[in-house]
Formats: sequence, C-alpha cells, structure tokens
Amino acid sequence: MFVVERRKRKGLKNTISQYQFCYGCGACTAICPQKIIELKLNKDGFYQPIIVDEKSCLSCGLCLSVCAYHDKDKKENILPIQSFAAWSLDDNERKLASSGGVGLNLVKTAVRDLRNVCGVRYNANLRKAEHYISKIEEEVVATTGSKYIQSDASQMLQNIKKGEQYIIVGTPCQIASFRKLMQKKRMEQDVIFIDFFCHGVPSMNMWRKYEEELIGKVGKIKSVTWRDKNEGWHESWAMTIEGEKQTFRKSRKAGDLFYSFFLKSHCFNRACHEDCPYKGTYSMADIRIGDLWGKTYQKNDLGVSGLLIYTERGKSLVEKANLFLEQQPVAVVTEGQQTQRIKRPYFWSMMMFLFRSSLSLKTIFLFNKILRIPDILKLKLLKKSKR
Ligand SMILES: Cc1cc2nc3c(=O)[nH]c(=O)nc-3n(C[C@H](O)[C@H](O)[C@H](O)COP(=O)(O)OP(=O)(O)OC[C@H]3O[C@@H](n4cnc5c(N)ncnc54)[C@H](O)[C@@H]3O)c2cc1C
Repeated sequence: MFVVERRKRKGLKNTISQYQFCYGCGACTAICPQKIIELKLNKDGFYQPIIVDEKSCLSCGLCLSVCAYHDKDKKENILPIQSFAAWSLDDNERKLASSGGVGLNLVKTAVRDLRNVCGVRYNANLRKAEHYISKIEEEVVATTGSKYIQSDASQMLQNIKKGEQYIIVGTPCQIASFRKLMQKKRMEQDVIFIDFFCHGVPSMNMWRKYEEELIGKVGKIKSVTWRDKNEGWHESWAMTIEGEKQTFRKSRKAGDLFYSFFLKSHCFNRACHEDCPYKGTYSMADIRIGDLWGKTYQKNDLGVSGLLIYTERGKSLVEKANLFLEQQPVAVVTEGQQTQRIKRPYFWSMMMFLFRSSLSLKTIFLFNKILRIPDILKLKLLKKSKR
C-alpha cells in the first residue's frame, strides 16, 4: 500500500502501462483482477500488454508485481548446481527435436508424472506460436522443436488451475515472470520451470511478411518447422513450410531470408537488446536447456543439448527422464552461447520501419546490406590494424 501511495505522489502510474517496450510475456494479463489487460502486437510486431479499459483500473499494482521487466535490474546471484551434456536415449525424439531432444523427453517424463505440460506449438490457422496446456503424451509432441518467433502465452496463463501440477517451458524472460505469477498465486511448489539459452525473438512483422511471400508459392500453410537434421545437427538451420500445394525447404546456407535476419540479430525486440539480463547462466528456471555448440561435441552431428540444473525439483525430474547425461563444467556447456546482452544495431528503427512497409523481404535484405556497410568497413579496418 505504502509503495502504491509513494508512486502516486511521484506522479508515476502504478500499472504496466508505464512500459512501452517490455518482454511481452503476458503474466500481467493473468493476474489483473479487473481482466482489463490484453496482450496485443505493437506496431513493431512484438507482444505488448494494453490496458483496454483505463477507467476500470484500480491501480492496485498487481500487474507490476508479476512483471520481470519491472525489476529486471534486481540481479540475484543464481548459479546452476549441476551441468551436463545430454541427449534423449530415444533416437526418434533426438532426431525430431532441435538439439538433443532433452526438452521433449522432459515434458514427456512430466506427463508420466501426472503433470500438465505448458509448451509452445505453431498454430497454422492463427499463424502464430502459442503456449498451450496438455496432459496427453501424443498432444505434447507438438511442443517439439524451436519455433523461432515470440509465443503468445496469455491464453495458457488464464487456464492454469490451482490444485494441479505443471511444467512450463518458455524463454528466460517469460519464465522469470511466470515464476513471479505462480508465487503470487501460491502455486510455485506445483510448477517446474524450464527455460533455454535465448538469442532473442524476431518481429512478427518480419515473420508475417516471410510467410505471406511463401503462401503464394505453397498455398495455405499447414505446418512450419524451423530446424531439421537432414544435413546433420550443425547444419540444422533450415525452414520447412508445408503448404496445401507443395512443401518449401530452404537452409541458412542456401540463403533463407528468415535466417538471414534472425541469426544476424537484426529483427529482435528492443527488450532483447537493452533489457535482457538472462544471458549466460542467469536463469529463474529450475532447468535451462540449449544447443551445446563448442569444441567438445563438434564431431557429434546427431544433436547435443546443454543442460543446467538450478534446483532440487529440476534435479529430480532429470533423474526420472530417459536421458544420456555426461557431467561437464559450466564453461563447456555454455561454450558458444552469448554471455552479454547484444547491442541494438544503430539501424534497428530503420529495420522496424522496413518490416512494416510493403517492400518485399528480398528488397529489405538489400537495404540491410547497405545499412551494414559502416559496420563491415569498421571490421575490415580493425582486422587490418591488428595485422
Ligand atoms: C526464440 C528462441 C531463441 C533461442 N535461442 C537459443 C540460443 O541462443 N542458444 C541455444 O542454445 N538455444 C536457443 N534456443 C533453444 C533451442 O533452439 C532449443 O529449443 C533447445 O535447445 C531445446 O531443444 P531440445 O532438442 O532439447 O528440445 P525440443 O523438443 O526441441 O524443445 C523445444 C522446447 O522449446 C519450447 N519452445 C519452442 N518454441 C518456443 C517459443 N517460441 N517460445 C517459448 N518456448 C518455445 C517448446 O515448448 C519445447 O518445450 C532458442 C529457442 C527459441 C524459441
């Protein structure tokens, strides 16, 4: 109450509406007692909570109390208790998943343990990635593989019920807020949280443009796969879009345009640059997973997951799972991962403008090349001066 009064005296709003560029996790939509917060895409193509009925807002501050963006600067000293290289012992799971299939195996293990799984699937009808809840093993298979776009978690969060057990998988910023939300609902003990090393989430304007250009070729989209191991795990960056007329597949190596923007970090949410404290080992989850890039498993092309365990609850789930585990130092598990937040490119606003425009992605890619010229020249000069 005191905090609310102090903020009011300072003329600060006690609601999420004070933030224009948050993580877009949607936790605030689930805690609002007035149910007046909705998650919508902003003009840059990122999810943002909007108070749809300001007059009904009680200024209670509950939305801020579950917002990881609101206290992103409060960094606690959290370190993993165990670190492994890992993969699923089921060859099919390992083949289907993005890395070593650890994510898939853990959610299946959770189902057998009578937990509800909250994971992400691609909804081809709504043309978006969304969190959903399921307790059925066949249904949780749709969580397999990374969907490299921001997921809408608002519906899933509304449907979480007291008295049930859950496992929730999400980006590190989503998980940081979801843990706060579960604490507020006094349900933290009922949930296992999994996050992953996260590069960033791209603009939905870019994604929709990419999709629309393909619909002309392949027809109505039936499914999307972001990674496959047809050319091995190290070359698994390939888009496969299955349409009603035909299937499209293009790899990063062959110049796929989605990957041209995604892997260069030229299409990410503002918060992924300025406000992401979750790089390296910093996590609010029980378990963190990811691709174990780096020298140690360079010759393994079937897929290796990095696995960090932070809590006893996380440890007990991993012990029940059907995984190959090899203990490795944290430095080996995190090799190749970003350790610092990535600087926002100086032409970020221009990229957002171009993704909003009616230009084709190919044209935007050409503009992007021109915009990068100063950076390329700087790199060349740096190399020359080193020599
Ligand atoms: C946007 C994004 C950026 C990533 N950046 C990195 C990175 O920089 N380095 C790295 O090592 N790994 C990164 N990953 C994770 C990596 O791609 C694999 O998902 C991870 O290694 C797990 O793979 P797996 O084989 O163990 O299991 P999988 O079965 O492939 O597990 C995938 C899990 O991720 C969840 N998921 C899928 N898409 C999303 C989404 N859009 N939002 C939230 N949850 C989702 C699913 O619910 C599923 O549980 C990223 C993933 C995403 C979605």
